[in-house]
Amino acid sequence: MKSDKLRHPSKVLEKFRILLPGVPAKSNRGWFGYCTVVLFPLKIGWALFDTGHYSDRDILLAALKAAGVDPEEIRHVVLSHLHFDHVLNLPLFRKASITISEAELNYARDVTAGRVEDLAVPDFWPVLLKGRDIRIVEDTLVLEEGIEVVTMPGHTPGCLVMFCEEPVPTAVCGDVVKNAWEAVTGESTSACVDKHSIRESITKVLKRAEIIIPGHDRPFVLRDDGLDYLTAVTWKVHGNFFPGPLNETLLDLSTQEGVCRKL
Ligand SMILES: [Zn+2]
Repeated sequence: MKSDKLRHPSKVLEKFRILLPGVPAKSNRGWFGYCTVVLFPLKIGWALFDTGHYSDRDILLAALKAAGVDPEEIRHVVLSHLHFDHVLNLPLFRKASITISEAELNYARDVTAGRVEDLAVPDFWPVLLKGRDIRIVEDTLVLEEGIEVVTMPGHTPGCLVMFCEEPVPTAVCGDVVKNAWEAVTGESTSACVDKHSIRESITKVLKRAEIIIPGHDRPFVLRDDGLDYLTAVTWKVHGNFFPGPLNETLLDLSTQEGVCRKL
């Protein structure tokens, strides 16, 4: 146990409410792309870390409603990076200012100009940001006392990680730490721009934070011999494969919170 405070991780998960849980999975048909979307309070009002993508949209709105928050009440959005799975629901939050890194904007410009290839950056990303109130982060930016975003290159050159010191040092990681495997091994589990940088970035995150909220997995605390997942997750795949039943559950990967040790 790193800290007595960790007996109460629920305080962190009350502050950083996971509206949509990230899913660390891919199919032969492509990435599911279900990223973690976090609702958190700032002094100016409610804020989101990442927004998910189109296939999440109705579920995101339902999760907000369940939290008692109207989309119009979202006053700020931190975009971890410009991959489609994190940004496509941005138009739902017209009253929100946006934080994004300068390095990520430059990277997306390079993608648009054809200087680098990244198929996960939507072609129309400038449309998403047009007319919006944008705070551009060079290296770090204090959103407000105790909450800081830091540019951490690797997955893309301009990924942002959000750190909060209280009540327990916590990192909302975006895809700098996408899942628990990346924290355990220090390696990216998917193609990333810079493997050396992502290793450095993952190490820095783990040094600074005790509770890790990854971009595509459940929150966890890393231990010497594995990790403790802090939440359960319900994740099912349904399908309509004739002549099978309509809306049949084809796959149920729901899991409980709890301890996962390495073999
Ligand atoms: Zn992602």
